[in-house]
Amino acid sequence: MKKKIYVDYAATTYIKHEVLEEMLPYLKEEFANPSSIYGMARKAQKAISDAKLKTAVAINSLEDEIFFTSGGSEADNWAIKGIAFANRDKGNHIITTKIEHDAVLNTCEYLESQGFEITYLQVDKEGMVSLEELKKAINDKTILVSIMFANNEIGTIQPIKEIGKICRERGVLFHTDAVQAAGHIPVDVQVMNIDLLSMSAHKFYGPKGVGVLYIKKGTKIHNLIHGGSQQRAKRSGTENVAGIVGLGKAIELSIKKLNTEVDRLNNLRDKLIDQLLKIPDTKLNGPIGDERLPSNVNVSFKNVDGEALFITLDSMGIYASSGSACSAGAVEPSHVLTAIEVPEEMLKSSVRFSMGERTTEEEVEYLIKVLTEAVERIRNFS
Ligand SMILES: *Cc1c(COP(=O)(O)O)cnc(C)c1O
Repeated sequence: MKKKIYVDYAATTYIKHEVLEEMLPYLKEEFANPSSIYGMARKAQKAISDAKLKTAVAINSLEDEIFFTSGGSEADNWAIKGIAFANRDKGNHIITTKIEHDAVLNTCEYLESQGFEITYLQVDKEGMVSLEELKKAINDKTILVSIMFANNEIGTIQPIKEIGKICRERGVLFHTDAVQAAGHIPVDVQVMNIDLLSMSAHKFYGPKGVGVLYIKKGTKIHNLIHGGSQQRAKRSGTENVAGIVGLGKAIELSIKKLNTEVDRLNNLRDKLIDQLLKIPDTKLNGPIGDERLPSNVNVSFKNVDGEALFITLDSMGIYASSGSACSAGAVEPSHVLTAIEVPEEMLKSSVRFSMGERTTEEEVEYLIKVLTEAVERIRNFS
């Protein structure tokens, strides 16, 4: 039988069985609108507040600071635009980085068209932000700093606690896109001085189309959706009850396994990195050790045709991500790999492997074997 090795967990995950089981009643018999006034509705309401509590526990926030959204992109959009428009009287300057997810970058670009000024911080060759450059970039007009917790392509984990401290000291709000971090590595909004934080359920074994924006109590932010005043009028609309229940269960399960998964994946990651770097002319993108997400490996091969490589991986049942994305038919090299100055000729032969709970040692060994042979064969052929 053909192998199927899914190593694209950073793109999305399957829904865990226990998560789906917990969701199903709210798609079937417990379908009441949580805003209704009878007993059946109170069950849905209770389910939402349980999910809120589980999420708050996971990131060490208050329950009242958790707002459910349609996913990570919505949370990022809300955080940045909501803060920008609500604090315009204080200033029009926002600081972010060159390696953010498009949900942050394109939101900032939109704000530029609305008269805001954005500083896009450069990162070093491993994708790390400089605290000194951040300090220098903050001025009297700065209202928000938005820096991702962990990068989805190269796995770089930013010094979030230090960034939060700088922002707090300078009186600037701090948002972090923690979509790749929440449920995978420790996140603590209090210890890390985080004012706003984005999460997405489908990145930690929950359903697609549901996420969270944590908003620190007292933060001045515009309401996102005007309507029937759900979620304290900040984000109106009948709640996605089943999705929210799934998110709550998924984050609870992930937190329970977090420490053992971090250790297990760190070992698999380092084995994969060590063995892939034995292939001649191979470059690791992103840092090593504790500064890297346990699940992430990203490598580039010199003198390898990217297309041939991905055809081989696909034919061998390996589902990984490429370092370039097709947008409108054209192949665009990744802005993240470009920002960390991966040489031009290696951009298209870059592969991201992102591992997860079902990734085994055998799978990693198979990956190493297939890649080692494929790279040699493609190089000999061309
Ligand atoms: C997946 C992802 C998002 C978008 O989340 P959705 O729920 O798919 O909208 C945002 N930021 C990062 C870092 C991501 O990996």
